Amino acid sequence: MKTIKIAIDGYSSCGKSTLAKSLATELKFLYIDSGAMYRAITFYALKNGIIDRSNTPDLELLKESLKKIDIRFQRMPKGNMHTILNGVDVENNIRSFGVSKSVSTISAIDFVRTEMVNLQRKLSENDSVVMDGRDIGTVVFPDADLKIFVTASPEVRAQRRYDELIAKGEEDISFEEIFENLKSRDKIDTTRAVSPLKKAEDAVLLDNSEMTIKEQFEYALNLVKQLDAYKDLTK
Ligand code: C5P
Repeated sequence: MKTIKIAIDGYSSCGKSTLAKSLATELKFLYIDSGAMYRAITFYALKNGIIDRSNTPDLELLKESLKKIDIRFQRMPKGNMHTILNGVDVENNIRSFGVSKSVSTISAIDFVRTEMVNLQRKLSENDSVVMDGRDIGTVVFPDADLKIFVTASPEVRAQRRYDELIAKGEEDISFEEIFENLKSRDKIDTTRAVSPLKKAEDAVLLDNSEMTIKEQFEYALNLVKQLDAYKDLTK
């Protein structure tokens, strides 16, 4: 059966996952959070001393460890997906600020990316999917039916992430720290040698700085509904 692939890429904390999740729920497609996979590897690397405080990874050890790392997603009773690392639910752990500080270093490593891209394709091979990340429209699904590149100003993104972390109880964190972390991740993500973050030529640009969550959802849903592939699927 024909499936539909929707790629949502963009800068850190620009609301990609909020958009991707709500689209997947509405369309009854699979949702895959590719960032969660890089975060899970980073969490494993931090926990096992593979990356040190100065953010220098032991590449040999990391390569060996990848063979022992199993990442999957599990649907929770409320319908949301949790990241499972070697059988353990790490959904909360991977969202910590500690992981955010190292994840762009880990995700810039070529063999990590090769492994994750293979896994991303495998997990979605039989389904219609909405996947969000940095290289989905450029590398993972270059033939995606719809590509959306999401952005918002760094200040707006930092404020959203700050509000989110405070709501989760990470109180020892300042807006400035988050702002600096975002800028640093944007820099590493856009300038790395392998699969840098960039807008695919055929992606629709969506700047949501001035949009509500509902507005951006409706805008994106309308793009999906205009797709011939979607019309065929729902005939
Ligand atoms: O999307 P999220 O912010 O959770 O992603 C965490 C990090 O993982 C990003 O800052 C980026 O370095 C990396 N990433 C990536 N490629 C993807 C998804 C995420 O390099 N497809």
